[in-house]
Amino acid sequence: MMRNLSFFRAAMCGASLLAVGLSGAFAQDAKHTDDIPTSDNALIETGKKVKNLQNEGEKIDLAKRAKFAEAMNDVAERQKVFAGSPDHFTIEGSFAQGGLLFGQTERGAKVTLDGDNVLVDNDGRFLIGFGRDSALSALLVVTLPDGTVERRAIEIEDREFPVDRIDGIDQSKVSGFTEAQLAKIAVDREKKKAARKESHELADWLAGFDWPVTGRISGVFGSQRILNGEPKNPHSGVDVAAPTGTPILAPAPGVVRLAEDDMYFEGGLVLLDHGHWLESAFLHMSRIDVEPGQRVEKGDVIGAVGATGRVTGPHLHWSLKWAGMLVDPQLTVGPMPLKELSNSAGE
Ligand SMILES: [Zn+2]
Repeated sequence: MMRNLSFFRAAMCGASLLAVGLSGAFAQDAKHTDDIPTSDNALIETGKKVKNLQNEGEKIDLAKRAKFAEAMNDVAERQKVFAGSPDHFTIEGSFAQGGLLFGQTERGAKVTLDGDNVLVDNDGRFLIGFGRDSALSALLVVTLPDGTVERRAIEIEDREFPVDRIDGIDQSKVSGFTEAQLAKIAVDREKKKAARKESHELADWLAGFDWPVTGRISGVFGSQRILNGEPKNPHSGVDVAAPTGTPILAPAPGVVRLAEDDMYFEGGLVLLDHGHWLESAFLHMSRIDVEPGQRVEKGDVIGAVGATGRVTGPHLHWSLKWAGMLVDPQLTVGPMPLKELSNSAGE
């Protein structure tokens, strides 16, 4: 892949004015390399192809040239979107890995993000998100009912997430799961899967998000531990330390999709659907005050902080998923109120 990038950079040498747009476009292409059928892949893996198809050198040259022309057209197309701000839609939010963008276009418009359809509601609102390790650019295409197409390359900030390397752990002390635990985990997984089968079209995210609990932030989204060289899953949400029993408020309106008090990992768990496939998860709750199907408004008490499930102490773990992909809840809310920070300092 690096060879591909440097090839293009060399080809475009001197076009420094366009450097930002180009690097974005290439990151985009890089992300999709796996999708390109091998027969079309000659430009990208020239060495391999030539070896495999010794007698078809001419064909490969043609294919290479066609692919190159196509790539240049694509680059030209992408450059257009940098000529100015879009006329037919707006997006605002966090242009960063783990960020969510809130969009508004015309009623009846179609929106795609990197070629994937995005839900657009009856008011022309749409929502898009970027994962912890997303590419640093994405292509948003808005097609209006009259056929007008507007494309915009979105630049995404490259964030650094904390990584902790811990070596020398005695592996014999890392115990596996019993059969009973594995069975429970499998049952839990099915419950979550069933709860995530639907989402609604109301833009419950529109009014923005508030902290569900205030207190010291004891864990951030995306942080990762590498134990004895083995990378563990990055932290899926934000942790707020607070005493057991502290009320948890709905950070935004939504419909409760799951309310279970005894999940193996999560303990007391509530899944709240904010519409457009955006979902909050609240973990380790000591008490749950809502039921599946129930609609809650922003600020409603949905339960209380606890230390249930696999935890070492009472806190709220809040995670946020868009279309099945984890995003950073902290980017949707303002800074933690200072009063709360000083109150709980040294906890
Ligand atoms: Zn957590």
